[in-house]
Amino acid sequence: YAIKIQTTFKFSDLGVQFASPDQLQPKPDVNALQFGKHFTDHMLKIYYHESLGGWQKPQITPMENIALHPGAKVLHYAVELFEGMKAYRGTDGKIRIFRPDLNMDRMNRSAIRLGLPTFNGTELIKCMCRLVSIDREWVPHSEASSLYIRPTLIGIDPSLGVAACDSAMLYVILCPVGSYFDTKSKAISLLADPQYTRAWPGGCGDKKLGSNYGPTIAVQQEASQQGLQQVLWLYGEDHLLTEVGTMNIFMFYINDRGEQELVTPPLDGLILPGITRQSILEISKEWNDFKICERHITMKEVIELTSENRVLEMFGAGTACVVSPVGSISYLGQTLQIPTTEWSTEPLYGRVLRTLTDIQYGRVPHPWAVPI
Ligand code: PMP
Repeated sequence: YAIKIQTTFKFSDLGVQFASPDQLQPKPDVNALQFGKHFTDHMLKIYYHESLGGWQKPQITPMENIALHPGAKVLHYAVELFEGMKAYRGTDGKIRIFRPDLNMDRMNRSAIRLGLPTFNGTELIKCMCRLVSIDREWVPHSEASSLYIRPTLIGIDPSLGVAACDSAMLYVILCPVGSYFDTKSKAISLLADPQYTRAWPGGCGDKKLGSNYGPTIAVQQEASQQGLQQVLWLYGEDHLLTEVGTMNIFMFYINDRGEQELVTPPLDGLILPGITRQSILEISKEWNDFKICERHITMKEVIELTSENRVLEMFGAGTACVVSPVGSISYLGQTLQIPTTEWSTEPLYGRVLRTLTDIQYGRVPHPWAVPI
């Protein structure tokens, strides 16, 4: 459905206040980057106040703490949403972002669900590009790293009513990041425990709300305690596979007709519509080398297929790690081995990873990679 934008802020109103030399932070060692721990020198802020006519002028300021009233809605009812994007420094030195228009659409859909104001995504992209360009020396000079971009929108009314916000703050912060997982190229082990659910019909698992993530932490801890790396989120009586950690899930297997087929769960409201997911589906359609299907996958099916050696690969897909191969699934007392990384020829996940990173780092020109 089309998103109706009532009012918006404009890039042409953007004001910039540069950090003074004593406010500049030392840049961390590119080889020792921990996800989300280091922040750049500047941030973007845009306030919304209904009483002042809606969106105010965007401002870039030095990175600083924000002050909120203790009654602010974000602190009580989790009126918060975010996006996750990256800026990549290409082989040619140019900095590019990947399909930012899709993040803006998703961000506006999340805003609608929370009763927060929508905005024109193109204007925010322009403001973010200016922010990244001011902090461009923070974009790692490395094709294993990138600058993570975290647009955030919070409801800040100092009022405890569970109601739409009259005041909001949109801000964007930046973090240089390496690879998301410790074992990027190694296959990850998953805990699939049907007693936990990430999303449900009529809920908001298909929106990028902070409230979807906090409650996953204890389950991730449970996985870690069992020596497993990520959670495979299941849903319903059939134990449908939905997502893996904060990634969409893909299975590459031999179907009943003996053909190679790539499957991923459909966007039925339980799944975050990942931009990496969409890109993998679009690229695969273009390749036309195997069947592609968006449909439900049950644990029963995975067990049967693995017992017949018909699961070739499973991988998670998302901005943080692009693709992450799955090696095993621990499910109700059994461990299913998935041979994703055990093929002697280039696996599909490797081809996907190479294709997407070639675009992101500008090795292959492509309209999805937008220079800042
Ligand atoms: N699922 C969840 C739950 C996520 O948080 C993310 C990360 N945004 C994804 C999937 C992957 O989405 P994207 O490819 O847009 O990063």
